[in-house]
Amino acid sequence: MTSMLIDSHAHLEMPEFRRDLEAVIQRAKESGVGYIFTVGTEKKDWMRALEIAHSYPSIYAILGIHPHNAKEIDDQTYPTLRHLCRNEKVKAYGEIGLDFYRNLSPRDVQLKRFREQIELAKELRLPIVVHDREAHQETLEILKSEKADECGGIIHCFSGDYEMAKECIDMGFYISIPGSITFKNAEKFREIIQRLPLESLLVETDAPFLAPVPFRGKRNEPSYVRYTAQKVAEIKKVSFEKVAELTTENALRVFKLEFSSSSSPHPIPLPPGERGNNQEMK
Ligand SMILES: [Zn+2]
Ligand SMILES: [Zn+2]
Repeated sequence: MTSMLIDSHAHLEMPEFRRDLEAVIQRAKESGVGYIFTVGTEKKDWMRALEIAHSYPSIYAILGIHPHNAKEIDDQTYPTLRHLCRNEKVKAYGEIGLDFYRNLSPRDVQLKRFREQIELAKELRLPIVVHDREAHQETLEILKSEKADECGGIIHCFSGDYEMAKECIDMGFYISIPGSITFKNAEKFREIIQRLPLESLLVETDAPFLAPVPFRGKRNEPSYVRYTAQKVAEIKKVSFEKVAELTTENALRVFKLEFSSSSSPHPIPLPPGERGNNQEMK
């Protein structure tokens, strides 16, 4: 049995990785991460995400307009995305959704652009990656009214309650768990995950954001997805291998990839963690 992991959501095109991307990708490989999905969230990042995906067989791209950037959408945006997303290395559309915590784009613009982009993803026959921060009700309403069950996808960095998770799963969505599940104050989140079926779960880093304990506050990177999977195993009282196996199968299914890796895992040691401030997310 392989214990390959998949990091379903990272931002390798961000400047945080400009200096040592090669080493970051190598460490991911050494710690058993078979595939990384890198998410280009705005125009300036799309080409870089595609370029990275084309440079490494183990990396794929996800492209779209983040709710933070919803106000930047113009006449050229969708035609460009429509073209870029037909690239064979693009496996999902996103991340799209609502962020009513930071409100970097006006809420009405976020709502409108979220609907439009679900429509576009369906046209492109791609699953969607949904970003929802403090907009649970509105996110659910739009997923339903736009019939997002037709494309399915992932609720990334899930932060809703059990009922919301259940409704999303019923619509054919997967729930993706970030490193924050390892945080001391995440007891409620752990209780929700404990009740959800492993068959509907994925793990992600959202690197460079949200590093798990023991790296909390540092720059996150795909190799750390192992700590998140380890925590899920503890919560669900199953082996690490079981979590790796199922979350990998789930990711391959949602992204419509063939299973093709036999990468051998090298468990990384657990150095004492230090805290810092890199806890924002995208
Ligand atoms: Zn996000
Ligand atoms: Zn993200």
